[in-house]
Amino acid sequence: MALRTPLIIGNWKMHKTVAEAVAYVTAFLPQVAQVTDVEIGIAPVFTALSSVATAAKGSTLRVLAQDVATEGPTGAFTGEVAAEMLREVGCYGVIVGHSERRRYYGETDAIVAAKVRRTLDAQLLPVACVGETLDEREAGTALTVVERQLRAIAGPLTPDEAPRIVLAYEPVWAIGTGRAATPEVAQAMHRHLRATWEECFDAPAAAALRILYGGSVTTDNIAAFTSLPDVDGALVGGASLAPDGFAQLVQRSQVASA
Ligand code: PEP
Repeated sequence: MALRTPLIIGNWKMHKTVAEAVAYVTAFLPQVAQVTDVEIGIAPVFTALSSVATAAKGSTLRVLAQDVATEGPTGAFTGEVAAEMLREVGCYGVIVGHSERRRYYGETDAIVAAKVRRTLDAQLLPVACVGETLDEREAGTALTVVERQLRAIAGPLTPDEAPRIVLAYEPVWAIGTGRAATPEVAQAMHRHLRATWEECFDAPAAAALRILYGGSVTTDNIAAFTSLPDVDGALVGGASLAPDGFAQLVQRSQVASA
């Protein structure tokens, strides 16, 4: 058995009503029923989480939230949703620190670290996102920026918490642009992240860490990523919105990682 089970997560962003989300799950599940070597997740909007979790019950499909409050389990934080509340409606994990949260809602490294903490404390899986902007890559600072983001996440964790987190490397310039990173760029960054994780913890922790690639992943390029030695799956935006297409993407990732 592989040391790291591949994980493919669909991030639906601000798409799909409750009815659309449930219809998706109903159409999607039979198409991935034979997939046993890949863990699959979807991240609907908050309002659809409960219904999607109910629709996915009895399957292996994981349901994740796209964000979580820095505070909790309750309090005077208008508009926020606590990690415990996400667990109550059937969530398995939370996408934390997505670049759209960092960019449009001012999430700093410290806020991302606080959200990872809350997610872990609620016994949920954080999928913590890191990634550089185009300016940073062109300035030659991509490795430094992403390493800083990673150390902010790893720093507050205890060694026994290290295996309870998944990382996603999502170069900002690749998200929603149709311009995916090359396999060489992805592999180099993933290797650097794993080496940094080893510095923060130890070699077994680094060997066990799952690092997903995200940024314009499609059915056509998924295999090029999942066949890389340090890529353990994908975080998929646009290509996860149609159940047939996402099922095909999952199947192709499995072929590549088999
Ligand atoms: C994302 O939003 O995490 C993402 C990777 O989007 P896309 O696949 O559409 O680039």
